[in-house]
Amino acid sequence: MQAIDTLTPCPCGNAAGYARCCGPLHEGDIAPTAEHLMRSRYSAYVLKREDYLLATWHPDTRPASLNLAAQHPSPTWLGLEVKHHAQEGDEATVEFVARLRHGGGKAQRMHEISRFVRKHDRWYYLDGHFPEH
Ligand SMILES: [Zn+2]
Repeated sequence: MQAIDTLTPCPCGNAAGYARCCGPLHEGDIAPTAEHLMRSRYSAYVLKREDYLLATWHPDTRPASLNLAAQHPSPTWLGLEVKHHAQEGDEATVEFVARLRHGGGKAQRMHEISRFVRKHDRWYYLDGHFPEH
């Protein structure tokens, strides 16, 4: 089994690898932008880092738990594509497409526009919506 800190590319798709991308954020480093935070949250879903997902969720909208370990079938994350990132002051939006598969089902696209808020230098996920096509 491959050690997590040698994951290359990073689960979020960055060729630099986990140790130079989402790994340090999962250990407490500050995400410089909402896009970095979003990528690290995607990687946290891949790695089932529920603690990190909750810690980076805005307290106003944060669920009590995600129960990622109890998901059956648990999703297989296939890739992330960030489409757009916009920031104005302490608010930002990130539009992305994540691809995933549940069990042996076929691959699905999850297209979301997420909103982020910065508080005390840290970005938090606020909420997201699925844009109309
Ligand atoms: Zn990454």
